[in-house]
Amino acid sequence: MEITKLSINRTRLLETINISSKIGAIDNGGLNRLALTHEDKLMRNQFCEWLKAENLEVRVDDFGNIYGRRNGRKNNGPAIAIGSHLDTQPCGGRYDGILGVLTSLEVIRVLNEHGIETDYPIEIINFTNEEGARFSPPMLGSGGVAGVFTKDFIYNLKDTNGKTFEEALKEIGYMGDEENRIKLVRNFIELHIEQGPILERENKTIGIVEGIQGMSWLTVKVIGESNHAGPTPMENRKDPLVISSKMITRINELTREIEGLKTTVGKLNVSPNVANVIPGEVEFTVDIRHQDDETRNDAMERLKEQLSTLAFLHQVELTIQTPWDSNAVTFSPLITDVISETAEKLNFSFKRLYSGPGHDAKYMSYLGDTGMIFLPSINGISHNVLEKTLDDDIEKGATLLLSVILSLSTEN
Ligand SMILES: [Zn+2]
Repeated sequence: MEITKLSINRTRLLETINISSKIGAIDNGGLNRLALTHEDKLMRNQFCEWLKAENLEVRVDDFGNIYGRRNGRKNNGPAIAIGSHLDTQPCGGRYDGILGVLTSLEVIRVLNEHGIETDYPIEIINFTNEEGARFSPPMLGSGGVAGVFTKDFIYNLKDTNGKTFEEALKEIGYMGDEENRIKLVRNFIELHIEQGPILERENKTIGIVEGIQGMSWLTVKVIGESNHAGPTPMENRKDPLVISSKMITRINELTREIEGLKTTVGKLNVSPNVANVIPGEVEFTVDIRHQDDETRNDAMERLKEQLSTLAFLHQVELTIQTPWDSNAVTFSPLITDVISETAEKLNFSFKRLYSGPGHDAKYMSYLGDTGMIFLPSINGISHNVLEKTLDDDIEKGATLLLSVILSLSTEN
């Protein structure tokens, strides 16, 4: 594989990121650009303008995903797709998936500037509602295209104000046609920030993502006996919060026994949640992740068993539900190899790793051979106004993406 002599235009790329950082800007350099809001619309308008300025064929599909197509010699063949998402969390940063879309745009600009013809067409994509902050679950645009979610399911999802996805999509003027969905995908490459501390800690510039961890959510409900805090003797209590605390500690201990397993209890509801009343009911969630589905499922079974034992010992009622389950994905070794060989030739330090968070690449991997490039997140911070990726790393990431796209879009 030849390494291209072309280079990306750092100033232009950083200026493009800067323009995006003003759309939906909040204090301290952050962004509030929730999916299908006015701010999202303004960003989409700007993005479409950029695509048209590069003479790309712009399409919008029935999920509001935006595509810019650059034709290749084999125009009937499958496309090399690149991109990510331009939406953010309510107090999000300016990099996240935005970096994936805007570095992809820079790749297109460089190809155009030098009149490079590729064999396969290239399609740059902005996926709708990746964050899942307004409409849950996340990754709706890519999941819709990949057939993970039906159109009906997506259209009827509601935000906290009761507005449906379909209404919001129409309102901002980005309801496109079903026939505009991307169909033939040879490869999908997504650049994204790591959102974790590993690359920075190990002093690596590039993360080559081998796959995405599988994930399960449990909703655990512990029912005891609510009573007055004063007269009820300690030995007669069935306090579900005390039992829940034992359960949470046990979950944490068990997690440490299983290599690579991550569990988080991030949500706890206490009822009635009053200072002088023994709680009657406690509900908490457990987020469980591992790169191997079997390990995750085994861990989940052990965990349920141990919680049941604790509930039995302390004579409280227990129900455990699994409202969300998502299998792990391993990306194409073919693509991870192309990315690592290219990084090596460019002399960029890199590390292979698994992604904890989900990404559009997960669902796109159902359509074609897929890979991801991670860039370091300073202090591992993301979904936060303090999110930061260094300009030098952004430049290197875009350079790597350019070389990888050139190599994938041209037949050897
Ligand atoms: Zn993202």
